[in-house]
Amino acid sequence: MDSRTWHCPTCGDDRDFVQPPCVDGHTADGGECPEWACADCGTALVLGDLVVVAAVPLRHAA
Ligand SMILES: [Zn+2]
Ligand SMILES: [Zn+2]
Repeated sequence: MDSRTWHCPTCGDDRDFVQPPCVDGHTADGGECPEWACADCGTALVLGDLVVVAAVPLRHAA
């Protein structure tokens, strides 16, 4: 899986970011999905503006 390293504002450190399966149709026309998620905490970033759009924990604590 492709991954890139950016500073994660939630982790407060550099983290690997991965692209989750696009569910918004960004790749439907052959484009590239701009969404990346921190592999550690799940914070989602959108390329271009590189703004934090959501902080959704990947872990589902019981
Ligand atoms: Zn997408
Ligand atoms: Zn993070």
